[in-house]
Amino acid sequence: MLNPSKLKAFDNHKLVIEINEPDTGLYGYIAIHNNNLGEAVGGTRMYPYATKRDALVDVLRLSKAMTYKCALAGMPHGGGKGVIIGDPKKDKSKVLLRAYAKKVDELKGAFHTGEDVGISEEDVQCMLTMCPYFIGKRGLAGDPSPYASLSTFYAMKAAIKRVFGESNMRGKSVAIKGVGKVGSELARLVYKSGAKVYISDIDPQATAFTKRMVPDAQVVEVEDINNFKVDIYSPCALGSEFTSKNCKRVKAKVICGAANNQLTKPSIGNCLYEKGIIYIPDYVANSGGLINVADELDAGGYNRKRVVERIKAVEKTIEHLFEMSEEVKEPLNIVADELARELFEHGHNHV
Ligand code: NAD
Repeated sequence: MLNPSKLKAFDNHKLVIEINEPDTGLYGYIAIHNNNLGEAVGGTRMYPYATKRDALVDVLRLSKAMTYKCALAGMPHGGGKGVIIGDPKKDKSKVLLRAYAKKVDELKGAFHTGEDVGISEEDVQCMLTMCPYFIGKRGLAGDPSPYASLSTFYAMKAAIKRVFGESNMRGKSVAIKGVGKVGSELARLVYKSGAKVYISDIDPQATAFTKRMVPDAQVVEVEDINNFKVDIYSPCALGSEFTSKNCKRVKAKVICGAANNQLTKPSIGNCLYEKGIIYIPDYVANSGGLINVADELDAGGYNRKRVVERIKAVEKTIEHLFEMSEEVKEPLNIVADELARELFEHGHNHV
């Protein structure tokens, strides 16, 4: 196995395991970043990573983000993540999924997992037949993506309030990159609240699907969308969206999207901040997905009312981050990271 501690993405992770089952075609990793606040939770991603190293870096970064996400969402959990190398359209099989579920089972509840990119609610149902530590169960939390869309929507409202003095989305312009499960529902919510919507996706079927829900959405070229002049730019595709080069070209007033790990490094937040652009930390904006599925583990079992209340509270969390940011003159992502670290390092799960 590649040595995770030699990689820059390594952050004193509690556990990193390699999964290698050539008989079933399964190769991947599970990482637990931190469990001070409770057992680790985080989805499992299936993606055709170019190299094992890319997959390992991703699982390290994503599991760390889960720890921060749990802390700021006030959830009694730590951060974990699973990644499987492969193209979900070609390489996914019941045999592979069951072999993965067996590996999760061996961790005896130290890691609860569920859907992410490339893994569906149906896959979760299949893996539940082998192991009880899957969340996002059909009939309970189910698919987390509409809840990730909802929290991103509330995060946008908090940002709009900051810029325009009120959280009303009417007449605001929003450009969404990636209209898959999260982005398409977000487009619907934003449109319903009176905003003008621009969408972009490398998959024409995804834009066509979204256009059926939001006929007025205007489709934009993928290359143009992240420097489009709009009130809000919303990355909802994959991560690593902003680099030290392209952050200077952003023309939106606010960046608020669901994609994980949008900044290639935290200092990109400073670049945006200096340009007067508000960047809402991705793990705060998209926390609704986690809040929904992790609720299955909460007292009394899954409770949708509690989920929606917790998701609405994202607006308040962001207002609190704005206050902190103003006080120390640092971008939101930096103060959010500091607050999250303070919470999970001391075992407090309240913002
Ligand atoms: P998805 O796979 O359903 O949708 C992603 C969409 O992005 C697809 O339509 C894809 O074609 C498009 N895309 C990929 N690369 C692109 C590019 N370069 N330019 C334009 N479009 C591109 O995934 P999803 O579940 O909607 O998740 C979207 C993002 O939100 C991911 O980063 C995911 O990690 C994050 N997220 C998802 C959830 C959830 O519950 N689904 C929760 C939290 C965070």
